[in-house]
Amino acid sequence: MKIGIIGGGLTGLVAAHALAGEHEVELFEKLPYLGGCLSSYNMNDYWIERYYHHCFSSDTTLFSLLKETGLFKKLEWMNGTTGYFARNRIFPLNKPLEILAYPELTLIDKAKLAWLTLSAKKTDLTKLDDIPADQYIIENLGTNIYSSFFEPLLKSKFGDRRNEVSAAWLISRIAIRSNRGVSGERLGYLKGGFHQIIGALESSVTEKGGKIEKQSTSSSLSREGKAWTLNGKRFDAVISTIPPHELERIGGPALPHIPYQGAACLTLAMDSQVTDGIYWLNMKDSAPYGAVVSHTNFIPVERYGEHIVYLASYFSGTLPAQLDERMITDFCRRFSVSEREIHWHRMAVDPWAGPVYTTGYRNLIPGYEQAGLYMAGMFSRTNYPERSMEGSVKAGYEVADCIRKQETHDRP
Ligand SMILES: Cc1cc2nc3c(=O)[nH]c(=O)nc-3n(C[C@H](O)[C@H](O)[C@H](O)COP(=O)(O)OP(=O)(O)OC[C@H]3O[C@@H](n4cnc5c(N)ncnc54)[C@H](O)[C@@H]3O)c2cc1C
Repeated sequence: MKIGIIGGGLTGLVAAHALAGEHEVELFEKLPYLGGCLSSYNMNDYWIERYYHHCFSSDTTLFSLLKETGLFKKLEWMNGTTGYFARNRIFPLNKPLEILAYPELTLIDKAKLAWLTLSAKKTDLTKLDDIPADQYIIENLGTNIYSSFFEPLLKSKFGDRRNEVSAAWLISRIAIRSNRGVSGERLGYLKGGFHQIIGALESSVTEKGGKIEKQSTSSSLSREGKAWTLNGKRFDAVISTIPPHELERIGGPALPHIPYQGAACLTLAMDSQVTDGIYWLNMKDSAPYGAVVSHTNFIPVERYGEHIVYLASYFSGTLPAQLDERMITDFCRRFSVSEREIHWHRMAVDPWAGPVYTTGYRNLIPGYEQAGLYMAGMFSRTNYPERSMEGSVKAGYEVADCIRKQETHDRP
């Protein structure tokens, strides 16, 4: 079969890797580089992801891919510490004593939080999909726990759309991330950077005869009998990994639109770290970014020769004007950094950086085959309730399996 793939992110590349060799595969990526949300900057001496990334101990499909591509031995596990920036100060929130000392929550609040964390894994998520997270927390744990603990977390992930997020998303995220020891959470990283997965997939596809076209935007799609024409080329099957509303815009089927948000992530390199050794600092105080993610408080700074910090923010619609300048100015003032100390900075913007897991989201998730077209990506069920490398790798493999099954079924 001739298979066209729209999008050279993790999902598209895994699907291409799974199908190349068996089929004639051609992948189209609009940008000059592959990887989408998992793409990286090449800084001469090192690679660093455009958007902060780590993996979790439960990412079994990702680990299988790492084994298949010979990268598993590079996987390392580090402590990912967290804290809150509140009252113009940094509060680490890892060790029991630190949690007890956090002044924004009362002792009763902390006991309620412990109960929520312990019960999260047993909670029936289907019942929580239609309930907004803020309503659920306020009703069950009180307003202060919401505003002092969960609202900053939701803001760092969903910006201004935090009030639309479902309780199912919040509880499942707590369940995933309750694997926390006294010195922080054990998080995985690929020594040398996750770009190696993208590179290994690219090599695998091309070595098996698949074609990868970079800087090639898929802009027209139409159906002709059982086949598809993509940018004027005929394919027996097409896999789209771009958001459903984008697919519809280029001629794909009209499906319920998945609510998406954009990410704007500013990466800075500096001489020193400024978050008291904390990896992930949620901003409770108002700032033009929701979190400060100090990569080199997670991965040793010696590997880079400079400290690397991400200022993370999400947006809906258009990117707020001069966001990068406002981020730098605020960061320098708040953390007493002189702009001269910043070696370099780069802003990464992706208008479709992930779904917003609004109430009722589960009913919007499309199947892998819709109106004769294959679809997989951050909107697939494997990426609910949290989009992740694991979810995208799984979606890539699963959509490839669907094509194989269909082909076996159609064979005379
Ligand atoms: C800020 C941020 C932090 C993250 N952190 C983590 C983390 O710590 N751990 C984790 O597991 N996951 C994390 N993720 C999620 C993970 O990166 C994604 O789940 C995964 O990379 C998505 O891959 P994808 O292929 O499904 O989508 P994308 O990466 O969005 O790939 C889609 C590709 O399609 C291309 N494209 C779009 N339109 C067209 C077109 N018309 N024609 C051709 N090509 C097109 C895009 O350029 C892109 O390359 C993070 C994501 C973001 C944004």
